[in-house]
Amino acid sequence: MDTTCTVPHPERTYPGGTSPSRSVKSIFSVDVEDWFHILDIRDAPQLAAWDHLPSRVESNFRLLLDLFSENQVRVTCFFLGWVARRHPQLVKEAVKQGHEIASHGYGHRLVYQMTAQEFREDALHSRELLEDISGSPVQGFRSAGFSTTENTPWFFEALAEAGYRYDSSVFPAARGHGGMRNAHREPHWVLNRTKSLLLEFPISVTDFAGKPMCFFGGGYLRLFPYWLIERMATRVISEGRPVVFYIHPREIDPQHPRLPMPLSRHFKTYVNLQSTKGKIVRILRQFSLTTFRDFISQERNWSRISYAA
Ligand SMILES: [Zn+2]
Repeated sequence: MDTTCTVPHPERTYPGGTSPSRSVKSIFSVDVEDWFHILDIRDAPQLAAWDHLPSRVESNFRLLLDLFSENQVRVTCFFLGWVARRHPQLVKEAVKQGHEIASHGYGHRLVYQMTAQEFREDALHSRELLEDISGSPVQGFRSAGFSTTENTPWFFEALAEAGYRYDSSVFPAARGHGGMRNAHREPHWVLNRTKSLLLEFPISVTDFAGKPMCFFGGGYLRLFPYWLIERMATRVISEGRPVVFYIHPREIDPQHPRLPMPLSRHFKTYVNLQSTKGKIVRILRQFSLTTFRDFISQERNWSRISYAA
């Protein structure tokens, strides 16, 4: 029977003294979207214009698939539904190579700018499309920009109603789009008043200079030097948590077109594109990595947290 508990969760115990750093696998994920899927800037192209823009996601994603294959790593691919509709062969190729297909929604909209119903319809449409293309169940979801917040308390229930079993949208630190600063950091069941809704895998953060910080994806992975990423990842693993790494295909493509945006945003969006592929390869070689699906199948010891409104 599920029992709601509040943070902080008691420390895990490891029977037989198994070291967490050796027993905990980490998770590698790709948000499969194109170079123009940048959120919340005035000149971002709208969905109606996307079909007319030059696409670079196919070549970049195929390059990533080659890196995964060379390093014998299987990953979770959170496909934007729009990308899957335009490039169904990418979904099929990922399935063929043993990767997990999950959903990044259909239209790349911020959760906190949608109603619960709009969000549910977008998430359901994306899941059904991806299941049609891949021929297998799609269980996982990640929102655009990790944009679930304390102001979207309907998020988990709507996602469960759209047929998902797990989510990786909670960002337990301050962030431009969303962020839930006080959220639990470990993977956990999300409960409402009556039942377990789904499993949540928050993006990995660890304390740095007194604040929770992420080092493991997107602009953070591009910005920080590899030695720091490695040190912080080792710390997260030693605490018994998997590191959730996340990347985007455009981040290994220094030549991709730039969108006009304010200087600070330009820096965050395009910093260190030249060195990101090298960091990704080092992560693939150094860490023991798996998909969300396989992590879930091997893990039984989950805490339970209520986010009920
Ligand atoms: Zn995205």
